[in-house]
Amino acid sequence: MNILILGSGGREHALAWAIRQNPKCDRLFVAPGNPGMEPMARLAALDILSGPAVIGFCEENAIDLVVIGPEAPLAAGVADDLRAAGILAFGPSKAAAMLEASKSFTKEVCDACGAPTAAWARFDAAEPARAYIRAQGAPIVIKADGLAAGKGVTVAMTETEALDAIDRAFGGEFGAAGAEVVIEEFMAGEEASFFILCDGTDCLPVGTAQDHKRVGDGDTGPNTGGMGAYSPAPVLTQAIQDQVMAEIVRPTVVEMARRGTPFQGVLYAGLMIENGHARLVEYNVRFGDPECQVLMMRLGAQALDLILACAEGQLSETAVTWAEDHALTVVLAANGYPGDYRKGSVIGGMDALPEDSSHMVFHAGTALKDGQLVATGGRVLAATGRGATLTEAHGRAYALADAIDWPGGFYRRDIGWRAL
Ligand code: AMP
Repeated sequence: MNILILGSGGREHALAWAIRQNPKCDRLFVAPGNPGMEPMARLAALDILSGPAVIGFCEENAIDLVVIGPEAPLAAGVADDLRAAGILAFGPSKAAAMLEASKSFTKEVCDACGAPTAAWARFDAAEPARAYIRAQGAPIVIKADGLAAGKGVTVAMTETEALDAIDRAFGGEFGAAGAEVVIEEFMAGEEASFFILCDGTDCLPVGTAQDHKRVGDGDTGPNTGGMGAYSPAPVLTQAIQDQVMAEIVRPTVVEMARRGTPFQGVLYAGLMIENGHARLVEYNVRFGDPECQVLMMRLGAQALDLILACAEGQLSETAVTWAEDHALTVVLAANGYPGDYRKGSVIGGMDALPEDSSHMVFHAGTALKDGQLVATGGRVLAATGRGATLTEAHGRAYALADAIDWPGGFYRRDIGWRAL
């Protein structure tokens, strides 16, 4: 098969790394990709938000399957365009991607199918929202309804903070995403992520993970896109996974099909677990980054078989072959991130890293400049290890991170502390 992956981050590098290992993969392209992928794929300059541009590339290069990594092309309807053109695509339609694009849409789906989640209300004006907050009290959670680049959620521990979040949302801080606001009950507990492939009808779990959102050791400092992750997540026991499949995921898939917008792709359920019971925090409609790096480390070559079965509607005939293993990834970020950071610092030591199937440095924000690898983003590399135990995976990931010579970057020393 000839395969095209859309995206350019660590997530897409991990997808390319796993897919390349499968003998079914003949030619592999990534658009736009990054330099880390060059040993395993051809990079293609392409407007990945344009259905016609992606279809044109597929026709020129006899592409059999398109794997859509990030959310933006999904929200732009690229999966719909590809399917209409008769090209196999992995990723939900624009209508099904609403499960990520609108918080209130997801809440309505949960209510319709009885999935456990936080109690909620929606507001399109500030005054009734303020009255609701005063009536409910704190802690309480305020969310811009639409996509706000991960910045639209305020977990308010006091009423003052909550009222301030309302002022900011209706004051236009989140643009159109904040024109409507969802106010939610605060859920206590431990968070974990659960990834499930769905082909519109059937569902297949492909792994659990936990990530570290805060920039600093001890889970301190501002929020980031994720400073590290590990899989599996011990808190998501088999019993809780079964509960989530029965009470949340399968009912959601049935409800989406009933609405005429079946969900096909990966459903990423963000869960809050308290007293052995999970409730849904949110859905995303693509793999997480850096969670994808640890999932792909564990799935390896079979990732392609699973993605293909999902795109072809054949999940009922597919199973995951699980190894008793663990994976852990450490994100290397540019000094200053998530605040202002400098681009262009030189990264050394990469050529000297030993090749081994149980570890890999995935690139997220790098470029080649005058023959040197330079940092171009906030989160730049993900040093990832796999092992029979989490301790072993942790050791491999940190051995890689420590061997990279990048004075312009930093990483957390305590990824996985909760599980270790
Ligand atoms: P979301 O974008 O909905 O995932 O929210 C971002 C983060 O806010 C989540 O990962 C949680 O840590 C937190 N959060 C969101 N909703 C709630 C809630 N109802 N109760 C407690 N924490 C929440």
